[in-house]
Amino acid sequence: LVSFDAVIDVRNVTKRFGGLTAVDNCSLQVGRGSITGLIGPNGAGKSTLFNIVAGNIVPDHGQIMFDGADVTGLAPHQLFRAGMLRTFQIAHEFSHMTALENLMMVPGDQPGEHLSNVWFRPHRARSRETEVRKKALDVIDFLKLGHVRNELAGNLSGGQKKLLELGRTMMVDAKIVLLDEVAAGVNKTLLQDLAGNIERMNRELGYTFFVIEHDMDLIGRLCDPVIVMAQGEKIAEGPMSEIRANEAIVEAYFGS
Ligand code: ADP
Ligand code: MG
Repeated sequence: LVSFDAVIDVRNVTKRFGGLTAVDNCSLQVGRGSITGLIGPNGAGKSTLFNIVAGNIVPDHGQIMFDGADVTGLAPHQLFRAGMLRTFQIAHEFSHMTALENLMMVPGDQPGEHLSNVWFRPHRARSRETEVRKKALDVIDFLKLGHVRNELAGNLSGGQKKLLELGRTMMVDAKIVLLDEVAAGVNKTLLQDLAGNIERMNRELGYTFFVIEHDMDLIGRLCDPVIVMAQGEKIAEGPMSEIRANEAIVEAYFGS
């Protein structure tokens, strides 16, 4: 028997909003090295589950295990430090910084960040900045954004911004990256870029992803396994080809 290596292990999680049970005794796992997709109809509880995993919502019952440790109730910044990363839109205040500077801004456990280090070990802090810059340049190269690295983030196209958001997760040591509808508003061509980069991060760099996405083509291309949620519960799990072949699920939840 080979034991399953879960980065995320959701155990019997329930979350109610007043009389409505958004997540209902739900259990699911995200395997290390996988790109696991989460799909289901509107109101299925996907976003609520994601927010519970990411520490934005505390469940009424159940546990979230992250890399073997119980992290139920931890705040997002604590999970971030532990290596659980979520992409965020480039905030307005960062749009006046260049693409490269946006990457260099990502907080980490860098010694140079602490004031005491700056005061007492200026040389070390400075070399650390060089290190961060080098890493940012590597990320820019990996994402093939070299030609826009000195552009202000606010001037980047929608797709380039998404790549930059992805790039920010590469600046720290992520054990898992959560993607919440990363394809929304991105045109088809740039979507292929984005998907290609997610695949390369997974295959070449070993990143694990947990993805909520409405675009079924993207889910089919990227994700294995795909977990189907409905009415707060996991109702199916498997490769997209298997999910698509399941007539009961397709009819009930995805129209014709
Ligand atoms: P999905 O992301 O799959 O569309 P959600 O997790 O957003 O589903 O929502 C699941 C159910 O919980 C829905 O019925 C939704 O209306 C409800 N819900 C979500 N968030 C809240 C909230 N903050 N307050 C009240 N009800 C909520
Ligand atoms: Mg949602």
